[in-house]
Amino acid sequence: RAKKDLTTNYSYYEPEMEEKTTWRLGMIRQLRTDFAERKLELWYQPQVDLVSERVVGMEALLRWPSPDGGYISPAVFVPLAEYSGLIIDIGAWVVDESCSKLKQLHDKGYNDVRVAVNISMPQFRDPDFVNYIKNAIVNHQIDPASLELEITESVVMDEPQIVIESLKALKAFGVTIAIDDFGTGFSSMSYLQKLPLDRLKVDRSFVNEVMPGKSAFIAETIVTLGNRLGLQTIAEGVEKREQASYMLKLGCDEAQGYLYAKPMPFADLLTFLEQHKEVGN
Ligand code: C2E
Ligand code: MG
Ligand code: MG
Ligand code: MG
Repeated sequence: RAKKDLTTNYSYYEPEMEEKTTWRLGMIRQLRTDFAERKLELWYQPQVDLVSERVVGMEALLRWPSPDGGYISPAVFVPLAEYSGLIIDIGAWVVDESCSKLKQLHDKGYNDVRVAVNISMPQFRDPDFVNYIKNAIVNHQIDPASLELEITESVVMDEPQIVIESLKALKAFGVTIAIDDFGTGFSSMSYLQKLPLDRLKVDRSFVNEVMPGKSAFIAETIVTLGNRLGLQTIAEGVEKREQASYMLKLGCDEAQGYLYAKPMPFADLLTFLEQHKEVGN
């Protein structure tokens, strides 16, 4: 009973309550098989500097092909991967694959581009977590600062001690750290002091509203907060020109969103970068 949403090309499954457990276990089994068979894909969404509009980075985003030719949304399957523990192996692959692709970009002359990878809570409980990230950086010979880890506020709140320890070790190694979807979690401001952060990602729900209103005030407050703490800021989900100019006016550094590009396979990203080499000049 998969319905295809033509706007996103994602498949939506709407199981009845009583079917939910069976459905979930089936999905997990299929995910495990597909991951083992290397069927998961990693797509990349460009991140741009708001002033120059040059590409400064990309976020790696998982894609799970579904039999109907579309994709199952990570919003659906990442929670299942977390629940089942599969995210530990999948996440390790995401880190390695992202570093490998970043190395390719650097070799092609895109020297200043970085890659951002989403990290889930169960990954922090993996005793090998800090090590495999260091290894990926060393093996692929990339600058540690060009690997950015994105964590949400809920990850920090879950088990603050282990997250803070791991992030401190990785920060000491030179890795960049960003808070994802900032403003949507139940976070305590004190974590902004305790975490070795480099960047705040302003959640797209606050970027949507460009006219003066509550969302816009929250966006403004987050950008100000980031600036005052000496952190870089990036606006998520920028779809309209006015949103970009508004975020720029607030003092936001970077942006990511459909206005610039949707997430795309690596081959398409290469073409995109080739076409946008001179943007901003
Ligand atoms: P996220 O990390 O906040 O990623 C940004 C999401 O916003 C992506 O959704 C992206 O496609 C979408 N997006 C970007 N620009 C726009 C825009 O202008 N408008 C709108 N409406 N949406 C935009 P996506 O790819 O469906 O991923 C959803 C979530 O799944 C991610 O949210 C992240 O939490 C999770 N996820 C994806 N890949 C991974 C992964 O490798 N590991 C982990 N742990 N989580 C992942
Ligand atoms: Mg993210
Ligand atoms: Mg986000
Ligand atoms: Mg999000």
